[in-house]
Amino acid sequence: MKFIPYLFIFFAVFSACSQKNEPVKVQLTDTIWKQKLSPEAYYVLREKGTEKPYSGKFLFHKENGYYTCAGCGNRLFESNAKFDSHCGWPSFDEQISASSIRTQTDRSLGMVRTEITCANCGGHLGHLFDDGPTETGKRYCVNSLSLQFEPMNESHLDTLILGGGCFWCIESVFDEVKGVKEATSGYTGGVADQVTYEEVCSGKTKFIEVVSVVYDSTQISTLELLKIFFTIHDPTTLNRQGADVGYQYKSAIFYKNDAQKKLAVACIQKLAKDQVFDQPIVTELFPFDHLVPAEEYHQDYFEKNPNNAYCKAVIQPKRDKFEKSFKELKK
Ligand code: FE
Repeated sequence: MKFIPYLFIFFAVFSACSQKNEPVKVQLTDTIWKQKLSPEAYYVLREKGTEKPYSGKFLFHKENGYYTCAGCGNRLFESNAKFDSHCGWPSFDEQISASSIRTQTDRSLGMVRTEITCANCGGHLGHLFDDGPTETGKRYCVNSLSLQFEPMNESHLDTLILGGGCFWCIESVFDEVKGVKEATSGYTGGVADQVTYEEVCSGKTKFIEVVSVVYDSTQISTLELLKIFFTIHDPTTLNRQGADVGYQYKSAIFYKNDAQKKLAVACIQKLAKDQVFDQPIVTELFPFDHLVPAEEYHQDYFEKNPNNAYCKAVIQPKRDKFEKSFKELKK
């Protein structure tokens, strides 16, 4: 199990910088920007101005939600990326997705800094520094005038429970999907309140490895998540994914309501009708009962063990496949 007879070496090619020279999507005339924005916001966003420190309305703001571009509404940061930097401007340690913000060298005022702009409209946001106190090491120093706030509506959150072989793989991919708030590895299908990895590995319990995907339905649909699921795992091999063999590696969807069940059935029927796979789809549908979260060392396994042979040979290709097939759905 999880034994890899040979090792592939994969070279990840990051193309985040390739968009730098592409024109931004929202291009308005100066006259229209002036009509659309307050004079203060125009000065910051369109003339690369800076608001006075400790003057912005979002400096001490702590609500749960999204910070968006005040020029075009593009989501830039999640509230959980905000931290108190004591620099006088709202600060974040991570942008919401690789494609939300662009960077460029700013040599104004006799300094060399990294300017950050909205990738959608080109609006000036602030600067990026490498002195952040969190694990990202980044400090996005942003003008409140460049931002608006969109509260998180908890009722938009939904959960999908997916079994597609080793949970390390499925979790690693769904962690990268836009709109996914949390992907947690766990076990479901059995009746016991608790179960261990070793017990599940025996293949003798009714538990299988799954990933609980919590997502914001205003950002991504259940159908899009199912399409990703059926792309990154093989739904035609019974109780098996590649070299991982056993009941616990069953391809399965645990639905939480009738709507999810109907959607999963329709999705499988469509894949079968379109003959996407050479063999019949064996994915099973079950009503969801309860999740036993997997042990801590299984959570974010790929992130914690990037040099592990299994991660390189099995998980990375699935991540690559997702990136290639669903570029627009990557965080
Ligand atoms: Fe913008």
